[in-house]
Amino acid sequence: IKFHHSSLTLFHSSPFLTSRRLRWPRMDANSAYHRHHRKDKVIVIMGATGTGKSRLSVDLATRFSFEIINSDKMQVYRGLDITTNKIPVDERLGVPHHLLGEFDPENGELSPEEFRQLGGSVIADITSRRKVPIIAGGSNSFVHALLVERFDPEVNVFDGASPKSISGELRYKCCFLWVDLLFPVLSDYLAKRVDNMLDSGMVDELAEFLDPEADDFELDSAQRSGLRKAIGVPEFDQYFKKYPPPGGLKGMRRDIENEDDRVRRGAYEEAVRAIKDNTCHLVKRQIEKIKRLKGAGWDLRRVDATETFRALMTAGDDGGRWSDIWERQVLEPSVKIVKRFLKE
Ligand code: ATP
Repeated sequence: IKFHHSSLTLFHSSPFLTSRRLRWPRMDANSAYHRHHRKDKVIVIMGATGTGKSRLSVDLATRFSFEIINSDKMQVYRGLDITTNKIPVDERLGVPHHLLGEFDPENGELSPEEFRQLGGSVIADITSRRKVPIIAGGSNSFVHALLVERFDPEVNVFDGASPKSISGELRYKCCFLWVDLLFPVLSDYLAKRVDNMLDSGMVDELAEFLDPEADDFELDSAQRSGLRKAIGVPEFDQYFKKYPPPGGLKGMRRDIENEDDRVRRGAYEEAVRAIKDNTCHLVKRQIEKIKRLKGAGWDLRRVDATETFRALMTAGDDGGRWSDIWERQVLEPSVKIVKRFLKE
């Protein structure tokens, strides 16, 4: 897989890597160096989609000397920023974000094994600069692949039909934070979030992505197999097939707003409902996977964001109340856990 962002080429040409190799020659896995080498420390923020992982990672990164590594399997690709909910640049507050939108979706799907290799290189780079990596994202298969000591790409440990035992042996010293909240509160919030995403231009973005008149569209869609799985793409693909807009796919949302065709509006609403339902199914699957990792001995520390989200959903809240609750109930406990971990 090729990647877009220049920072990744760093791992092939970095003077740091050269000097590190000079200082610590590579030895085989059983060598004394490997047995006595202290594991690098990493912070890992887990949690279902929409729980505030990105916000927490930036809040922590600005207090400590952290750099963020994205572990959402859809946000690794360039494009569909609204649909996949990438954290906007202004909310990153200058904190470096790695593996976020760096991969060209036309180069095919990024596998957990490739993510393990690339994430491992980014971690080595960050720690070599005496900074601490903070991994944030909802893709548990990516997090699992990145962190376990021994990874077998042939085995899907989360496969519902025949779950395999998950190893508790990790190749880094990890501090796990699990942002969680009551499911009904999260599902109300996510329904609202989908509406906000639609208002922010998600349909135009999808129309452009799915535009059959684009150059090399056929070739493209076969190759963009990763990003095509993002929630929103299959749902609107179906809709656009039935109702291609008269003036091309761009401007779809505006077409709909002026549209008095009830059938067409019904199909649009059906697509939106499917997105909301699929997002809730995703949340349930993610929580199951997180619980499975916890059951395998991964020491996840749960922080509860329910009250924050209740306040966030309260009409008329200008942001003051929910951000106070966030600070008290999510950020402060997380800061304590992280401080203790960094001292160990
Ligand atoms: P799996 O074992 O199913 O691969 P996973 O933990 O690796 O799960 P998830 O992050 O749970 O990966 O993603 C599973 C599916 O959820 C994706 O294929 C996609 O359909 C959807 N999805 C995940 N993240 C996003 C996102 N940011 N935007 C849109 N859809 C997403």
